[in-house]
Amino acid sequence: MKIASVKGFHDVLPGDSARWAWLETRARDLFARYHFAEIRIPIVERTELFARSIGDTTDIVEKEMYSFVDRDGTSLTLRPEGTAGVVRAYVEHALWQKEPVSKLFYFGPMFRRERPQKGRLRQFHQMGAEVLGRDDPAIDAEVLMLLHDLLLACEIHHFTIELNSLGDANCRPAYREAVRAYGETHRSQLCDNCQRRLERNPLRLLDCKVPTCAALMAQAPVMEAFWCSSCREHFAAVRQALDHARIPYVLAPRIVRGLDYYVRTAFEVKAEGLGAQNAVGGGGRYDGLVKSLDGPDVPGIGFALGVERMLLALGIAVDEQLALAPEIFLAPLGAESEAHVLVLAHRWRNEGLKVELGAAARSLKSQMRQADKSGAPFVLIVGEAELESRAATVRDMLRKRDYPRAVAFDWSAGQVRQYLASLGEVATPQGHALAERTR
Ligand code: AMP
Repeated sequence: MKIASVKGFHDVLPGDSARWAWLETRARDLFARYHFAEIRIPIVERTELFARSIGDTTDIVEKEMYSFVDRDGTSLTLRPEGTAGVVRAYVEHALWQKEPVSKLFYFGPMFRRERPQKGRLRQFHQMGAEVLGRDDPAIDAEVLMLLHDLLLACEIHHFTIELNSLGDANCRPAYREAVRAYGETHRSQLCDNCQRRLERNPLRLLDCKVPTCAALMAQAPVMEAFWCSSCREHFAAVRQALDHARIPYVLAPRIVRGLDYYVRTAFEVKAEGLGAQNAVGGGGRYDGLVKSLDGPDVPGIGFALGVERMLLALGIAVDEQLALAPEIFLAPLGAESEAHVLVLAHRWRNEGLKVELGAAARSLKSQMRQADKSGAPFVLIVGEAELESRAATVRDMLRKRDYPRAVAFDWSAGQVRQYLASLGEVATPQGHALAERTR
């Protein structure tokens, strides 16, 4: 019996993988411009790291983690998100002693045992950014600016940043109580989960996707009414900085995010074209997190974007920029040609040309079919006559024309490219006439 992949765990095949690489390159380039450095952390961490940071009563920790007991009895977990691991590494390596502010980014797979559907997998990928060591509103604005620019750099243009402030340890308890009281008065209308959450973590009610709960919670009290003066000022300053920089956002007074560690600034990004799973990313400030993981009292803020959802949102326009096709396809006819063509391909590839190579064991017709499929605009055919004159015959695949023994074997990649480009030019109606005259 064939062995199938595991439900919710996907392969990324050639073609698609080029889009992944493209996205990562664009993102890396932007992270560099914002002077963020990459951090690579393990996929497996101790289970308690997530239980303590994300929160015991969150969906992720309660029912979505892939945890297992290692042979020595330690409970380990495949990371469901990146922030906890980054903060663990920050504390473990005392990064605050090496630099006053750490600006970090990461890429990588995350694991959550959710019900798979379009845009929702069990192994998915995130790119994320974290800033540790600053709690001023300007850095919140800069992080949101990075998020905004990152989406644009990845050619995602139709998105909305939804912004809220969750208050802090001073003012949130009163809000929490107000939400609990509101839920309590409507207890009979809540789903079983929410009835349970009511005692332990009432703010989770605002996240519930069950339509009756969502409708009910749309009328729930909002955090804004409970902000203390310093939270109010902080949020106003973040908004002002964003307005100055013309970073668009909308206020979303009931965003709470699915993880417990957020305080003050919190945000989500929705993108068009994703269907039901339209959140492409989210993040926020997590000032108590480093301390709660036995580090110093260092504030932090960050976000994560879902790579699969970014790829769904960026559409097909990108494929044109990918230039997956080789520039030339070399087709050898016969064993002697094959040896020659292999050397040519080696040299031209080293000089920067994208070359695909046919196999002499296959007929010219079959190699042509392969060349066509590869998308190469030109095939260089090398048979006996070409070996003799030490120049390959060029077939222009787009214009269906042959140029016998036109590309000399001793040309550089640059010369080959220049010649092929000139064929494109002479192929215009005037060009044809020109080519006939100069022949
Ligand atoms: P979160 O860490 O839950 O705030 O998620 C941040 C982003 O990661 C989301 O907006 C999604 O784009 C992506 N994401 C989260 N969970 C999944 C999943 N199960 N499958 C695919 N993408 C996900």
